[in-house]
Amino acid sequence: MEAEPGGGRRFRDPGVRLWHFAREILVRCPRCDARALVAVHPGHRDGHTYAVGWLTAPHRLTCPACGHVAAWTPQRWRVGAGDAYFTPRGVLAVPAFGGADDPYFGLPLWLRRSCCGRVLWAYNAAHLELLEAYAAATLRERPRPAGSQSMLERLPAWMKSAGNRAEVLAAIRALRDAA
Ligand SMILES: [Zn+2]
Repeated sequence: MEAEPGGGRRFRDPGVRLWHFAREILVRCPRCDARALVAVHPGHRDGHTYAVGWLTAPHRLTCPACGHVAAWTPQRWRVGAGDAYFTPRGVLAVPAFGGADDPYFGLPLWLRRSCCGRVLWAYNAAHLELLEAYAAATLRERPRPAGSQSMLERLPAWMKSAGNRAEVLAAIRALRDAA
């Protein structure tokens, strides 16, 4: 982000998708309500040719506060189960990304807050940082090259509205303090 003459802020969309931020998802621990982490199981982190490989790999929930651990195992795809990933071991359902719950365990995200009558949410600090840079910008440029829609292009209209900028930024900053 660079300052513009006249005090505006210029920002170019880096073109990342929501799933880019899914390597570390902060959630509320179902046992103690503290901040817990959902991530690929350590034994399944490497060796994926495509992102969909680690997105559908076994995941683990860990809570540093109470020690709670839970496992998520890849789900078989069924009709109506969203996107399918064809592997030599069978067809897996790709978790649905989007919304204020984590796509693996369905737990409420740690970084979520009421804003403009809706819910503003992020998976982790890096995700929040990009939302902040976008919200603060007065001149927003599309990704280069423009491909299928980026995470920022898919944001709801209320988050993109200049009229909501101050409230959206305040919510993001409050979440950042809690991150
Ligand atoms: Zn806990």
